[in-house]
Amino acid sequence: MDEELLGRVAAAIREYGASLADRPAYPASEAISGLSRFDEALPNNGAAAPEIIGELDEIGRPATVAGNGGRYFGFVTGGTLPAALGANMIASAWDQCASGPVSSPVASRLEAIASKWVLELLGLPSDSGLGFMTGSSIANLACLTVARDEIARRQGVDIARDGLELATIDVVASTESHATVIRALRVLGLGARQIRMAACDGQGRVDPDQLPELSDRTILCLQAGNVNSGASDPFPELVAAARTAGAWVHVDGAFGLWAAASPELSREVRGASAADSWAVDAHKWLNTPYDCAMAIVRDAAVFRHAMSAQASYMLNDNDALDPSDFTLEFSRRARGIDVWAAIRQLGATGIAHMIERNCALARRFAAGVEQLGFEVLNRVVLNQVVVSLPGALNADAPCSGELEAIIAAVQKDGTVWFGATRWRGRPAFRFSVSSHCTDERDIDRALECLETAKARVHRREPLDHSRLQGGS
Ligand SMILES: *Cc1c(COP(=O)(O)O)cnc(C)c1O
Repeated sequence: MDEELLGRVAAAIREYGASLADRPAYPASEAISGLSRFDEALPNNGAAAPEIIGELDEIGRPATVAGNGGRYFGFVTGGTLPAALGANMIASAWDQCASGPVSSPVASRLEAIASKWVLELLGLPSDSGLGFMTGSSIANLACLTVARDEIARRQGVDIARDGLELATIDVVASTESHATVIRALRVLGLGARQIRMAACDGQGRVDPDQLPELSDRTILCLQAGNVNSGASDPFPELVAAARTAGAWVHVDGAFGLWAAASPELSREVRGASAADSWAVDAHKWLNTPYDCAMAIVRDAAVFRHAMSAQASYMLNDNDALDPSDFTLEFSRRARGIDVWAAIRQLGATGIAHMIERNCALARRFAAGVEQLGFEVLNRVVLNQVVVSLPGALNADAPCSGELEAIIAAVQKDGTVWFGATRWRGRPAFRFSVSSHCTDERDIDRALECLETAKARVHRREPLDHSRLQGGS
């Protein structure tokens, strides 16, 4: 990169960062319609790089969702720690292919260190296998592939050789399983008829008393951190039942497993470490840039046999471990460098503090929103708050229209952003605190927005479309 290009890139990043304090959490509709300026026919001739960066910044920046600021509470997105962003940018400049020590010694070394730290932070066995992947969708897929292959192997079936036909595999998944878990099972050839659903309690946790029967052919899919309520399954009872039956236990811990990194909150995921495999994101609660997650399997050899691009008979247990044996990708970016930098920036104490602070802010929001006459539907055990109106018991209740109008008004205003959801049949909105930048003032702004929107909707006033400054 020459000086001019580098200067433009640096300025774009600096200005964007500085704008986050005032930027709307969601872009104005004019900014979104401005994206039509990108529409052009396939360019026949090239353009100068600084010009392209200028265009990207000018047209693209106003239409960004400010997930990297403190007032975005949608989904569970996390922010980006400065060291992780910087490391990500440098690793991109290095253009390392992280398939192994031969293609990138530095990526391999830093990913090995990051793996060790992640296992320690999450309280998982230090000799587990860990692979870096794009997200928990794929990490779930990887872990469930290992589970499927291992259950088949215990039946004398080598899926690599025999295919699926000879193996008998069934699944017990929670009715609250994330959609990506069900999709991963489908991709693996495990359809709805092979899945028995485990009933949940009012917080979205599998009820051990209603657990379907498990056997040594079962993959039991559990969850640390329900995407709505933040609640985790009662692992000690469920894992004990799985152990007795010889079932495989997989934990989808996309964001919730990070509770294990906090001495104050680890009780929420107590017993999760006794499972066989875990999927966990870095791009959510560890606050690395997108996209980054880890698949972790207790038995590294079993992981390697299922994931290796080499046929299992070619694997020699004495071979040096190759990172490409622990992911579904071969060529890939060095995601683990972002993880290394994030952990290096905060340290174990800082990570625990960030998670605890997010949870304290979620409790602050829950208390405030109840004061405004809303109803909090979940026990706020982590960073997630599910909110409705007292009368909004189903989609047809008159109050549900009011709730919908309030959510729409807040979203339209753009100061803060969160999305609608449904919780145990009730229309609701979900408020997630997962960014290191969110502070008390951001929570109070969210409460002010809700108060204003509620009063307006109540008086049936037309909505005010005024926006924050700094939308460009
Ligand atoms: C976000 C999420 C996923 C999917 O993870 P991606 O990183 O979006 O692929 C799976 N499970 C839960 C509980 C989640 O919150």
